Amino acid sequence: MTIGSFYPPQRTLMGPGPSDIYPQVLQALSRPTVGHLDPLFIGMMDELKQLLQYAFQTQNPFTIAVSAPGSAGMEACFVNLVEPGEKVIVCRNGVFGDRMRENVERCGGEAVMVENAWGEPVDPQLVAQALEANPDAKIVAFVHAETSTGALSDAEAIAKLARQHDCLTIVDAVTSLGGVPLLVDEWQLDAVYSGSQKCLSCVPGLSPLTFSERAVAKIQQRQSKVQSWFLDQSLVLGYWSGEGKRSYHHTAPVNSLYALHEALVLLKNEGLESAWQRHRDAHRELRDGLEKLGIEFVVDEAYRLPQLNAVYIPEGVDDTQVRQTLLERYNLEIGAGLGALAGKAWRIGLMGYAARSENVALCLKALESTLK
Ligand code: PLP
Repeated sequence: MTIGSFYPPQRTLMGPGPSDIYPQVLQALSRPTVGHLDPLFIGMMDELKQLLQYAFQTQNPFTIAVSAPGSAGMEACFVNLVEPGEKVIVCRNGVFGDRMRENVERCGGEAVMVENAWGEPVDPQLVAQALEANPDAKIVAFVHAETSTGALSDAEAIAKLARQHDCLTIVDAVTSLGGVPLLVDEWQLDAVYSGSQKCLSCVPGLSPLTFSERAVAKIQQRQSKVQSWFLDQSLVLGYWSGEGKRSYHHTAPVNSLYALHEALVLLKNEGLESAWQRHRDAHRELRDGLEKLGIEFVVDEAYRLPQLNAVYIPEGVDDTQVRQTLLERYNLEIGAGLGALAGKAWRIGLMGYAARSENVALCLKALESTLK
């Protein structure tokens, strides 16, 4: 059997990510590869850092893109900030909070769980209680935008509580960055990671990451070596630091970083406020259309993510068959339910480039005719 080139169809991606990539970003990806220590590339990396600082709304000097997906950004936070024996308060209101628990335990830490129902945001009162009951806790970890349910938590309030108890925060902003307000400096968040493939509409496989000075200080004061060589951020820093000389750490994913640079230039040109508003507008259009079809949302409007719409599958409807029809007939991908919502909900993403009226109209038309 001969194996030829792979040509995928042109899908419209309206699931939980990856999202559709901006055409300009795909073009940037195919520009000539230069060496990753080429002075021109290093100049591009310095710009990328500034663009990431804008997207995160931070002045943190430690602001980079991890050369691996969001899960690696998550792991980079835990392996660097959690030392064996340390207590971490982990808020769980969906799949990704549970992954945080896994990370804490694999670092030899003790995870104190704050449990919230699926579809609900993290309750700051429960976080306050956990902090009172565990005065030796060092970190509070939570997911800002839970992709498994579509719930948005109050990062500012949780971070304030953490600071009152002298704890650092680890914040999952994989789905929030670029889609809803995320103000790293104003909210005084400490370690925040994201993903390139959601509201930035960039290629998957990169994880924007920022550490506050408090977080960097904790890493510098570690008693034990970070067990992961690749994710040890004290080594990576030498590679990303802007002051002329760069030392080799790993081969940067050169073309993917061009793509991230381009996606962030687009975000900067649009402006964060406008991008957030565009996500809200698209969500309202989608909500109105879905409600006309009698489809109900999982998450209360007050905590709903505009970029990730979890809706209940109407009774008697075959989940798999509908998603398959959407894919085959309309080249449209929507997401299945995850974890506790598997088989019960769909997740319709309006992320980045997908947060547009054309996409909303296609999704509503396709769903209406498929559900008939
Ligand atoms: N955290 C959240 C909230 C996510 O939605 C995802 C991916 O969907 C991840 C972490 C993991 O990111 P990745 O799949 O890029 O490794």
